[in-house]
Amino acid sequence: HSTTKPPPNPSPLRSAKFFQANMRILVTGGAGFIGSHLVDKLMENEKNEVIVVDNYFTGSKDNLRQWIGHPRFELIRHDVTEPLLIEVDQIYHLACPASPIFYKYNPVKTIKTNVIGTLNMLGLAKRVGARILLTSTSEVYGDPLVHPQDESYWGNVNPIGVRSCYDEGKRVAETLMFDYHRQHGIEIRIARIFNTYGPRMNIDDGRVVSNFIAQAIRDEPLTVQSPGTQTRSFCYVSDMVDGLIRLMQGNNTGPINIGNPGEFTMVELAENVKELINPKVKIISVENTPDDPRQRKPDITKAKELLGWEPKIKLREGLPLMEEDFRKRLGILRTN
Ligand code: NAD
Ligand code: UDP
Ligand code: UDP
Repeated sequence: HSTTKPPPNPSPLRSAKFFQANMRILVTGGAGFIGSHLVDKLMENEKNEVIVVDNYFTGSKDNLRQWIGHPRFELIRHDVTEPLLIEVDQIYHLACPASPIFYKYNPVKTIKTNVIGTLNMLGLAKRVGARILLTSTSEVYGDPLVHPQDESYWGNVNPIGVRSCYDEGKRVAETLMFDYHRQHGIEIRIARIFNTYGPRMNIDDGRVVSNFIAQAIRDEPLTVQSPGTQTRSFCYVSDMVDGLIRLMQGNNTGPINIGNPGEFTMVELAENVKELINPKVKIISVENTPDDPRQRKPDITKAKELLGWEPKIKLREGLPLMEEDFRKRLGILRTN
């Protein structure tokens, strides 16, 4: 028999509250790459209870295996294009395929996820009074005509191209966020995420860092899409998660760019991967896809000033961390 006394006056309501965690947090898309790292970080705080909803289109339960069965964690198979009735304090809304090959696979579904999915999460936020953060994207700047991109730039986006389901979808999602904020007083946060990399990326998802690392490990040529002078800026996933949490906890609606301003051409990226991972591998030039932005680099002045955030991990430090994870998953150990 237990010696612990029950809390005084244990009315059902009070005792439920007594044992309740301080913050119940919903992460949509939490079985995905960034989402699962965000869940890891949120679960470190014992006052957080985390609920993930995901339809497993590009994510996997495996990314969350360390939390399945944990008393402060819950995983729900659910598609955000359908209404969701739960009670939460905060919503990190990430659900949406991020890699071009996946978001182009069923473009109509991608638009529904961005538009109807975000509408549903805003309806939920409105009903329960939760704060909601949207992971928007640097793709809202399209093929940018200003460089680097700051948040006041309206973008240069093709409305009818093969990428439009994603970038126009995210633009509407941002619009919905601001309309719910102005019309219904919802507390919103918008992060414009720039290219992010790290462990748990899908190995064959077609994104450049995952492609090059997998190719280098498999001894296959690194496929630089022409012309190879196009640039991107790559943020390591732990820095990204730190930025998202600061944005959620701070007082600014955004949009705020979160990304690493270190800018590389795709040829430079290939050379770095070659040098760090497999000096014997070849670098070849292959055809590009339509509407590929020629340059991309975040201006992170706002994140620095308003969130006190800046990335810590340089590309050459992050690539080996990702290599380790990819080698384990591919079952190919380093030989030299
Ligand atoms: P990801 O594909 O690994 O994760 C997305 C998750 O959302 C997956 O688990 C997927 O199964 C889930 N999902 C997709 N559609 C859904 C739906 N209709 N209902 C429920 N779940 C659904 O991608 P990621 O890289 O982790 O990206 C997360 C978020 O960050 C996305 O919103 C993406 O647009 C944004 N973002 C990512 C990057 C990047 O470089 N990774 C850049 C800019 C923006
Ligand atoms: N919604 C939801 N969960 C909720 C509340 C609303 O999924 O807890 C959905 C709802 O089904 C609707 C959307 O969010 O499609 C927008 O809701 P809102 O209340 O803003 O609009 P309305 O239902 O009045 O159209
Ligand atoms: N890219 C490449 N080789 C690949 C895959 C992509 O050179 O195997 C290039 C692509 O043309 C683009 C850049 O890498 O210029 C980033 O592509 P990714 O799909 O990773 O992200 P996004 O275009 O969404 O920024």
